[in-house]
Amino acid sequence: MMCFVLFLLFIYIFTSVTITNLHKVYLGFHFSMMIWPYCQFAIRTVDDPVYQLFYVKLAFVDASLLTTGWIFFTILLSGQSQFLNRKILIALLVPAFLSSLAVVLNPNGWFVLPVNGGYVERIYGPIFWINMSILILHAIVSLYIIYVALVSDQAPRIKNQIMYMLKGIVAVCAFLMLDVFLNVILDDYLPVIPGFTSLGIVVSATFFVITIHQDKVFDIVTIAHQDIINTMEYGILVLDDQEQVVEINQALLPQIRLNPGERFDMARHLPGGNIVKTEQFLQTYIDHPLEVTETELMYPALQMYISIHAAPIMVSGVRVGRIVTFQNITELRRLIDETNQQNTILQERNSALIKVQEELFQTNAKLRKMAITDSLTGCFNRHYLMQQLENELMKDRDPRVPSTIILIDIDYFKMVNDRYGHLAGDEVICSTVEVLQRNLRHSDILSRYGGEEFLIYLPDTEEDEAYELAEQLKSSIESNQIRIDNIDEPISITISIGLLSIGEFKVSPPMSTTTYLNDLFRSADKALYAAKHQGRNQIVSARK
Ligand code: GH3
Ligand code: MG
Ligand code: MG
Repeated sequence: MMCFVLFLLFIYIFTSVTITNLHKVYLGFHFSMMIWPYCQFAIRTVDDPVYQLFYVKLAFVDASLLTTGWIFFTILLSGQSQFLNRKILIALLVPAFLSSLAVVLNPNGWFVLPVNGGYVERIYGPIFWINMSILILHAIVSLYIIYVALVSDQAPRIKNQIMYMLKGIVAVCAFLMLDVFLNVILDDYLPVIPGFTSLGIVVSATFFVITIHQDKVFDIVTIAHQDIINTMEYGILVLDDQEQVVEINQALLPQIRLNPGERFDMARHLPGGNIVKTEQFLQTYIDHPLEVTETELMYPALQMYISIHAAPIMVSGVRVGRIVTFQNITELRRLIDETNQQNTILQERNSALIKVQEELFQTNAKLRKMAITDSLTGCFNRHYLMQQLENELMKDRDPRVPSTIILIDIDYFKMVNDRYGHLAGDEVICSTVEVLQRNLRHSDILSRYGGEEFLIYLPDTEEDEAYELAEQLKSSIESNQIRIDNIDEPISITISIGLLSIGEFKVSPPMSTTTYLNDLFRSADKALYAAKHQGRNQIVSARK
């Protein structure tokens, strides 16, 4: 009973610990291999037929287990995991289970009957043969899997393993059949020769052990794991719950110099520099071991920025230790700093560019203004008016709405110049512009046409209305007393006006806008000339 309890504990620990399925299947398989010879030996060590029968039954139940485990092991070792589906598992396990049950029950001695009141020598019944058939069937399934693995595209290493398995199966089958042939079929003629099947099992186990050792089948995961850990650039430290080193990788070993089993003191391995940050990290690390903590610290002695990350290792909700990683992030930090610096420079340059752009914009606006402004008087220049008129002509406007052009020339201006000087003449021109501008509407455009000549465009204005405005302009100028420094008497001038109302302000093709406008100006000029001719300080209308 104690042995049985120990066995159950073994099964429990074996299934619950973290080892690979390959390990589990092999260990189970090897354990079942040990049971068979043990039972064969045990049968002969006891006199009580009850115990003898128990060992016989155990041996055969074990044989079912053994061959089933064998198939699993074959599947795993040969990489044929496509066979591990539910249907195949049921097809394998159910017959094995049923035949084992029949062996255990041994109804009417259909499995085994005693000879001479004991089971050292025994007579097998039909259940034995069914059991045998299932074992042979299992062997055939194993052989089939091996066949599939051999014909499939496998690495030479795997093929080598498969060949060893094949040898193992052949060996155990050969010895089993020899056992059955000599000790069961020829039972009546020969004495029982024990140990054939056991020998077969030992031979096949030897083959398995050879392949496992040759190819490090079981170590591959561990080796890979170790390789990964040791070739990693960052330091990995695995600690138990007492802060003792369980594992330390190659990257970290030269820095920390602790062997497994030694105590790790986080405080001793932190730099002195940033006290607040270090204390904060340490506090969480020590007081809250269940939390994931991380920090980035500068190690002046190493000239490195290190990112430290600590996380608990939990098993079923209990902390069993922790993993601490150390990553050198100096280069990363440098890159980030550099990027930030570049960003600042870029930002500075950007704002400088924006400033230049604003200045350019202002200068451009000034230039644009200068290009359309008369420098002496500040009113529009001739170029601007021409442009405006051309634009007006381009507009698809209502043909019935008329516009008017007024051409103005100061009378006897040469005399002003001669009498008061050229500078005074300039001031007279400016003052005249001011008066004109004051009398105009917002939409009217006043431009300096030439020396002391001005052109006014009155959009949407009938001739009568324009005439009235011209009258107003004329009288305003006439009454304007221009006072100039150093000249005692105020200067007063008159203007002559040529007025041209354009009923239909539109270019009729094939005429160009320039020709059309020149035509208009000529007409206005004629009217002005007529005004001069009529004695000046006059308004003359021309009809187009
Ligand atoms: P009228 O027009 O009445 O026939 O006689 P006028 O003396 O005004 O003759 P005209 O219009 O032909 O002469 C214009 C004069 O204006 C010629 C020139 O000396 C003067 N003048 C032209 N531009 C300027 C200027 O910018 N400043 C000054 N001070 N005089 C100018
Ligand atoms: Mg003139
Ligand atoms: Mg004049």
